[in-house]
Amino acid sequence: MGDGERRGLLARLEAGSVICAEGYLFELERRGYLQAGAFVPEVVLEAPEAVKELHREFLNAGSDVIEAFTYYAHREKLRLIGREGDLERINRQAIRLAQEVAAEGDALVAGNICNTNAYLPGDRESAKAVRAMFEEQIGWAAEAGVDMLIAETISFLGEAEIAIDVMRQTSLPTVVTFAIHKNGLLRDGATPARAARRIAELGADVVGLNCIRGPETMMVHLRAVRRAVSGYVAALPVPYRTTRREPTFESLTDPQRPEAPFPVALDPFTCSRYEIADFARQALDMDVRYLGVCCGAGPHHIRAMAEALGRRPPASRYSPDMSKHYALGDDAALRQAYRDYAVDL
Ligand SMILES: [Zn+2]
Repeated sequence: MGDGERRGLLARLEAGSVICAEGYLFELERRGYLQAGAFVPEVVLEAPEAVKELHREFLNAGSDVIEAFTYYAHREKLRLIGREGDLERINRQAIRLAQEVAAEGDALVAGNICNTNAYLPGDRESAKAVRAMFEEQIGWAAEAGVDMLIAETISFLGEAEIAIDVMRQTSLPTVVTFAIHKNGLLRDGATPARAARRIAELGADVVGLNCIRGPETMMVHLRAVRRAVSGYVAALPVPYRTTRREPTFESLTDPQRPEAPFPVALDPFTCSRYEIADFARQALDMDVRYLGVCCGAGPHHIRAMAEALGRRPPASRYSPDMSKHYALGDDAALRQAYRDYAVDL
């Protein structure tokens, strides 16, 4: 790190938009490297090349930020799976993997903290434990020289207040995003708009929403957040077709199957790349400049988002071009008999 030429997060936001690909847990689960349920990123230690490959695919698809894969690599989770002794090693290694891949392009490396699942509103002991968990993770990230910090998927305003306080003890740019569950409020009662305003007042450079809701059901809360704050706003939905009746990906039901779709059978609800591109354009029209896709994201979603924002990432070399399709294309070199057959496909 320490490359004086490379623009930081705030300069990039000032100049336009920033894309941050998320959703490593879901993608590495699908690839066979991570267990659904506890969702702990042991893959960072067990198969680091798999993590680097995914980082590389998102970089190639247009992500400006490589998040160190420390989501759920916190003390509470590692205790849950009996690997508390590996806490520091997994955090340091995740940051190193992100830095190695970011250096292959022009990406920023983000240190990452998230919902602890240990926070209890009004409980002084839990607040102390949460603060200690954030301090150790942010400490390792800052020491390793990351470019920025992200606190994500937080659903208590009180927990976000601790997160921003710890992050502000460094001089790094900060992003805080809230996870909004079915009832549309933070779990300690604040509206997303009030929570965003409060965290912006506490000094977060970017505030917004991530995970849990698809583009359709995130938008109403995103508008409220945008109205509530004057600074940079973030939106990173899950790429699933959530609805007014089933507004979160945990609440989706599949009329054709008895199993709950969440978390490993969400496939039939997946948004197409066109829907993600539409969301990116709508968000940018509202001056929401920090954009990404969370759990369920694939590189094709990120590329579609990048292109919707007017970019041409390396992966755009292979963006669809149907003109040379044997039957559906219109290239003069195609055989007419095959093009005529298109209606019978
Ligand atoms: Zn997510």
